[in-house]
Amino acid sequence: MSDFLQETRRRRTFAIISHPDAGKTTLTEKLLLFSGAIHIAGSVKARKASRHATSDWMEIEKQRGISVASSVMQMLYRDCVINLLDTPGHKDFSEDTYRVLTAVDAALMVIDAANGVEPQTRRLIEVCRQRDTPIITFINKMDREGREPLELLDEVERELGMPCVPMTWPVGQGKAFGGIVDLRKQQMRLFAPGEAKRGDDDEIVPLAQAEQLRARFGHDFEQAEGNIELVREAAPAFDEEAFVGAQQTPVFFGSGVNNFGVQEVLDALVDLAPPPAARHVTRADGSEHEVPPHGEGFSGVVFKVQANMDPSHRDRIAFVRVNSGRYESGMKLRVQRTAKELRPTSVVTFLSQRREAVEEAYAGDIIGFTTHGGVQLGDTITHGDAPADFGTFTGLPFFAPELFQTVELANPMKSKQLQQGLMQLGEEGAIQVFRPNTGGAMLLGAVGQLQFEVVQHRLKTEYAVDIRLMPCRFTGARWVTCDDAAAMKKFVDENEGKLALDAADTLAYLLTSAYDLRLSQERYPKVVFHPLREHA
Ligand code: GDP
Repeated sequence: MSDFLQETRRRRTFAIISHPDAGKTTLTEKLLLFSGAIHIAGSVKARKASRHATSDWMEIEKQRGISVASSVMQMLYRDCVINLLDTPGHKDFSEDTYRVLTAVDAALMVIDAANGVEPQTRRLIEVCRQRDTPIITFINKMDREGREPLELLDEVERELGMPCVPMTWPVGQGKAFGGIVDLRKQQMRLFAPGEAKRGDDDEIVPLAQAEQLRARFGHDFEQAEGNIELVREAAPAFDEEAFVGAQQTPVFFGSGVNNFGVQEVLDALVDLAPPPAARHVTRADGSEHEVPPHGEGFSGVVFKVQANMDPSHRDRIAFVRVNSGRYESGMKLRVQRTAKELRPTSVVTFLSQRREAVEEAYAGDIIGFTTHGGVQLGDTITHGDAPADFGTFTGLPFFAPELFQTVELANPMKSKQLQQGLMQLGEEGAIQVFRPNTGGAMLLGAVGQLQFEVVQHRLKTEYAVDIRLMPCRFTGARWVTCDDAAAMKKFVDENEGKLALDAADTLAYLLTSAYDLRLSQERYPKVVFHPLREHA
């Protein structure tokens, strides 16, 4: 087997998704602990605690800083290289989360046993479903009184629109939580509370000794046995192909804070989650091809751009998901969009919470290029010798903003700095910037209100520009395309005052109401109004 193929096959790249407070941070930390990537429980947690102690926008600032260091974590477990991508917790940054989901091959969904599937999880599920991302489900907080396991499975099935396949089953719950039965290994891991242990010394009893378990756990064990029997009849057997094709989700139960049931999840990532697959590329002429992960030439896609925290350097980190080949340090690189060479000042990998210079990386890995510009969200980066018509990876979504504000400059002398600042923040995806066709003040579009505050604050601290944000009449936007040039011209001529170009120079139609959209669709049937723009 070639080195490339071998290296690719041992990669697992996944995102961890949940509604706030379901236990994502805790589980992340425990996964790192179990893989040996960190040694002290509490280090991920401690940073989160300090984040909560600050005021609202300071929190955003901190989050931004923290996420540079901790949003990607690589760990070795058994013979696999696991890349874990964190997703921002606040709903106003959901766009970032969606983009992170384009960079993974699977998702780990954490659900609070008392709350079931919560609103934010539901939205993330939608994105995973659109992309057919395989989902592993972890039902957390079994040490607390929660809902019945069967009822939870039912809800997950309904929300996901695919069957659940329990891989473990809980015995008791809350104060009476006795442990979990591993349905494949036919054994029960007995619950013992505690945050410091690694689970190596957990008591494990084979189901062959069911009498002993019945004696110890009484009714709870018998009920679990009954439920396991029920599930065995009703649920499909685990089928790897169905899981990878997002047709079923394996379900695990546990308690993150007690390091319980974590081992099973980590093993599932290695045993069940898929290695990187081939990715779609579109060429300038519209033709498509697939790039296999073990293909020779290095290629990757920028799924996140983040300003560095040091305000004295205007540099940025472009997070690149490697899609094929091998990245080697010092390699010549090209940005396909501009056909220009990319000369990063440094290239880093994210080993647990440290950043380290990267020697080599394979498909599935995430590497960070520090640059002074020249890179945008969605850019395809290849080896410098890749064909000029390599094309670009498709699928990075931009969502039509639902909130708009007009930018007013406090000091008109600063208009150049404002342009530059907005362009760069737009390239990062922190906000969407629209330039009205008829000129006039620039518009900012966001999906969440906090994005405006972040941009205002960053313009001030990073670009020394004071802005006022004023309300404006727009309530939505649609990107417009049309195959018929004459129909497009008529549309543009008649709607000049409501058209604008976004940061990628794509034409957008600004809406003043939902009625506006319906009316325009009727009036211009040949024009297509897109709620989502995919980077291409
Ligand atoms: P996040 O917002 O999803 O990252 O959630 P956290 O990991 O910060 O957890 C939220 C709260 O739930 C914290 O107070 C945790 O200590 C607590 N928690 C996490 N896992 C468990 C668990 O298994 N059992 C119990 N009882 N509490 C938990």
